[in-house]
Amino acid sequence: MNSKIWREEMVRGWGMAVGGMAKVLRPTTAEQVADAFGEVRALGGAMALRGSGCSYGDAALASGGRVLDLSAMNQILAFDPIRGIARVEPGVTIRKLWQHTIAFGWWPKVVPGTSAVSCGGAAAMNIHGKNNFAMGTFGESVLAFTLLTPQGELLRCSREQNADVFFAAISGFGMLGCFTELTIELKRVHSGRLKVAAIVARDLAHNLQILEDMRGAADYLVSWLNLHASGRALGCGVMHRADQFEPGEDPEGLRYFDPALQDVPTSMFGVVPKGWLWPGMWAATNLGMVRAINWAKFKAAPLEARGSPYVQSHGAFHFLLDYVPRWHWMTKPGGLVQFQPFVPYATGELVLRTVIEECQKAKLVPYLGVLKRHRPDPFLMTHSVDGYSLAMDFAVSTKKQKRAQLWGLCQRLAEVVLQAGGRFYYAKDAMLLESSFARVHGAAATQQFRALKQRLDPQRMLQTDLSRRLGV
Ligand SMILES: Cc1cc2nc3c(=O)[nH]c(=O)nc-3n(C[C@H](O)[C@H](O)[C@H](O)COP(=O)(O)OP(=O)(O)OC[C@H]3O[C@@H](n4cnc5c(N)ncnc54)[C@H](O)[C@@H]3O)c2cc1C
Repeated sequence: MNSKIWREEMVRGWGMAVGGMAKVLRPTTAEQVADAFGEVRALGGAMALRGSGCSYGDAALASGGRVLDLSAMNQILAFDPIRGIARVEPGVTIRKLWQHTIAFGWWPKVVPGTSAVSCGGAAAMNIHGKNNFAMGTFGESVLAFTLLTPQGELLRCSREQNADVFFAAISGFGMLGCFTELTIELKRVHSGRLKVAAIVARDLAHNLQILEDMRGAADYLVSWLNLHASGRALGCGVMHRADQFEPGEDPEGLRYFDPALQDVPTSMFGVVPKGWLWPGMWAATNLGMVRAINWAKFKAAPLEARGSPYVQSHGAFHFLLDYVPRWHWMTKPGGLVQFQPFVPYATGELVLRTVIEECQKAKLVPYLGVLKRHRPDPFLMTHSVDGYSLAMDFAVSTKKQKRAQLWGLCQRLAEVVLQAGGRFYYAKDAMLLESSFARVHGAAATQQFRALKQRLDPQRMLQTDLSRRLGV
């Protein structure tokens, strides 16, 4: 593909519920990124940056405008296997990164639920993993980066150099400039596997209690909630705890430093390609079987708990969502949206209970609910809090009225969360109102971010459907 030609394409959020036509360019070098910036600057138009396009909503879209897709800038420029430090182009995916480093006993400190995301997108959204309570966000593992500003200036940023830009561009959802190179610190692992234990949580309070009891010692914690359960069982779920092995504790696990043994299998029983599974899942979703599937999953949980602990490769534990390629197509044609409130510890139980109850009352129950523990981080536009998040996936109807009902519900729930001092995460958002922006971040951070935007991008070249919706 010619990396110098803008092509008219349909560009969607990963959830497929929002999107629009845009002119797309896929540069392969930092010089081509600079040329594209120069061209758009001269034309006076606007442009969105895009990594792997894994944001669920409109964070990497520019309907009717231009999109600079960085996925072809995907070279690992250097890796130091003694210190575990990698220098990468922004389009390098988390998968490409660990495939390169695991053989030396290094794994990224923070990984999301899919390994398809790019390092540029991970830094721009400051993503979190199942260890956010212990290891912090992705930005905390970034040592330095170069940022090409819309004015054409190449800024070298770290905690010591251009620190204000460092702490704002990480978490700055692609508003301040384009990462052209990132230096990332990885963590030492002594086995290619993790010890995993399943714990049945009776209800929401029990789930939260497990998070509090274990977060001092566990490496990873995540709970899958059955959001159909009500009454005393409301918020019940299956918590998974995973821990790293100590040096020498898992000699067999050294074999799993082979990247081929980390990847999730692409077929079932070695025969059925998993890419063929989504039509079955589509049928289950459309026949209203989600409730029954959730119920069966939670009935099976005690069996899994009795068989705990067991071992799993890092890849198998983290990237469960990569097991079935294109699983999100099960929500076609309407697609899906995710609503992920972050709520402070003190009001966490009450707010999450209210959110789940309101979904049930509205008869719009998410087919998936994932609970995590978080900690604050030093980035300006952070979504993280000392508390919890509950990621809820909703299938979207193609019927206008039903879609509006879902948007209305989420906006009502957002109000509950904001009143309790909660936050939101733009990688997952599709429906927050403009008035929410300052309420999520507070007046001081909002003002500081707007001032940086004015300094680095006075022409407001970098815009996305998300930034326009939030009036950034
Ligand atoms: C199945 C699935 C599971 C997920 N699980 C998690 C999870 O567990 N935790 C979590 O935190 N997130 C999770 N996510 C969300 C995902 O990690 C974020 O949306 C991430 O930002 C996606 O990276 P991307 O490369 O696809 O970026 P895109 O979605 O393409 O872009 C994201 C943002 O980054 C900006 N951007 C992209 N490249 C650059 C660049 N070079 N310079 C500056 N800005 C840039 C874009 O403008 C946009 O604002 C999940 C997503 C999926 C699909």
